Amino acid sequence: MVFAVQCPNPKCRKFMLVEDHQKGQIVPCLLCKTQIKVGGTSSAKPVVSKPGQSGPTS
Ligand SMILES: [Zn+2]
Repeated sequence: MVFAVQCPNPKCRKFMLVEDHQKGQIVPCLLCKTQIKVGGTSSAKPVVSKPGQSGPTS
């Protein structure tokens, strides 16, 4: 199974496909050689609702 990681370099932002077994490893970006922590990105995190914000503001 493969999944996509995105290069953290704001000037690159290349998406790369990595294998599932590479999770937790560090792979270099193919373009800018920035080291990408596989599985370390926060893109898959669920949205956490902040306490204190209850309901829409009227
Ligand atoms: Zn890159």
